Amino acid sequence: YCRISKALIMLWVTFIVLITKAQSQTWSLLQAPKELTLKLIRDPVILSQASIDYGHIVHDNPFAIFSPSSVSDISNLINFSNSLTIPFTIAPRGQAHSVHGQAMTNDGVVVNMTDLNGFRNGSGIIVVSDDTTIDPYADVGGEQIWIDVLHATLERGLTPLSWTDYLFLSVGGTLSNAGISGQTFRFGPQISNVHELDLVTGKGEIVTCSRVKQSELFYGVLGGLGQFGIITRARIALGPAPTRVKWLRLLYNEFSAFSGDQEHLISFNGRNETNAADYVEGFLLLNQPPLDLSFYPQPDQPRITSLVTQYGIIYIIELVKYYNNTTQAHVDEDVKLLVEGLKFVPTFMFEKDVSYEEFLNRVHTDELFLRSQGLWDVPHPWLNLFVPRSRISDFDQGVFKGIILQQNIPAGLVIIYPINRTKWDDNMSAVTPHEDVFYVLSFLRSTGFDQLEEFKVQNQQILQFCVNAGIGIKQYLPQNKTRQEWKEHFGPKWNFFKERKAQFDPNRILSPGQGIFN
Ligand code: FAD
Repeated sequence: YCRISKALIMLWVTFIVLITKAQSQTWSLLQAPKELTLKLIRDPVILSQASIDYGHIVHDNPFAIFSPSSVSDISNLINFSNSLTIPFTIAPRGQAHSVHGQAMTNDGVVVNMTDLNGFRNGSGIIVVSDDTTIDPYADVGGEQIWIDVLHATLERGLTPLSWTDYLFLSVGGTLSNAGISGQTFRFGPQISNVHELDLVTGKGEIVTCSRVKQSELFYGVLGGLGQFGIITRARIALGPAPTRVKWLRLLYNEFSAFSGDQEHLISFNGRNETNAADYVEGFLLLNQPPLDLSFYPQPDQPRITSLVTQYGIIYIIELVKYYNNTTQAHVDEDVKLLVEGLKFVPTFMFEKDVSYEEFLNRVHTDELFLRSQGLWDVPHPWLNLFVPRSRISDFDQGVFKGIILQQNIPAGLVIIYPINRTKWDDNMSAVTPHEDVFYVLSFLRSTGFDQLEEFKVQNQQILQFCVNAGIGIKQYLPQNKTRQEWKEHFGPKWNFFKERKAQFDPNRILSPGQGIFN
């Protein structure tokens, strides 16, 4: 009996596998409309490039790569998929800087968004600043990258207000998440700085939406993890660009002093344009190799090393004040007022003066270095969390001093900074903790394949610690989860999210790599 039932189970499993395989490839290029066939590429080299992302953790095998030469091409592709008895999945791929296969698909079609650049013929970023009755804005293709948006806007003396730390990310990709950095406490995430969007929905419709026009779709797509439509244009708010920045780092040996000062810096109590910081972030300096001290003057490096050795963990506030020709005369005084009363270790404050662009594009310098060392295209078991302010010191005790310091694996770059929830729009799909202030926690590690498992285990330990301690975290850039985990992630927004999916992508074809509706 045992052998027979084993054989039956094997037969059943084989049957299911064959059915699933057959279902996933029930179409061929021959069925595709003529105008699409030439744009559906099955070259093995190009297919393999789309089978990984920045994370180097997930590998998928797409059926084809789609190279759109217009927005209507994208709509035609989606219509073709929907016309089949079993539609294929479609994954828009911006820069594929996701770390867990979010821009990938198995057996479906990856849309190489970058190819839209060719169709725009250099007009992918249009800056509008001549109309004095409205604030300036830029109309930007979803495939554009932020560094190009910066260059185009700076030419007109303007700039987007809210950024990510790294600028070689696509506009569509960051708006599908939130887009956060040290400016978020003040201007909100990038999704809070969008006036209007052009999209192709999961039904193939080409739609323009905003807060007042098709608002359900507008709110759904911002932070919507690519689930409702493909962003082909975003209207981004702009403001006057500074020319230079005062870039400070303040070192702390006590967590409560560090977090207290960070919260003070992001609060609006009695602050105006002049006496507010323009950027506030923070990170850890751990007594672990490699100790990157390149920011600090050479003569100060030994005393910083001693401080780290003495305490094992040093917390650093990174603080920036912008200035231009008009404000140059009083910027030093402004900085002095900003840091007055802060509780960093006396004399451990360091300052640089760099151009606005050099500051915003700072991570690219690291990228070039890492590439030169062969350390860029390696696995990235990253973990990004939002932690409620009320539990941040428990997090410090349990995770930094507990898990990270106790384990003998290099922590990588650990970023920590608070942001104000009032600058987020709760109608949007992006999810945050429910406190007015919450912290961004990013564990950004690069590793070889041999250590990947250790990091994955550590990430699970961090998540488990939060569950056990009852810390209501939310994952940012969430990684594939079970349906139950997604429900918990979205909380009260889950029903809206599900309804919007049914409304705008009823066949569930878009961005399957997120693993929400598969
Ligand atoms: P992809 O990885 O290509 O896509 C991400 C998701 O969006 C996928 O589901 C994809 O299908 C979907 N998508 C892509 N394009 C579109 C579109 N046009 N319309 C609809 N859906 C689309 N994030 C921050 O917020 N702040 C940071 O400071 C920050 N720093 C980073 C630094 C580095 C070095 C890296 C690698 C990532 C960083 N990120 C940061 C994360 C980054 O914002 C996200 O991974 C983002 O998705 C990357 O954009 P992308 O173009 O690579 O998107």
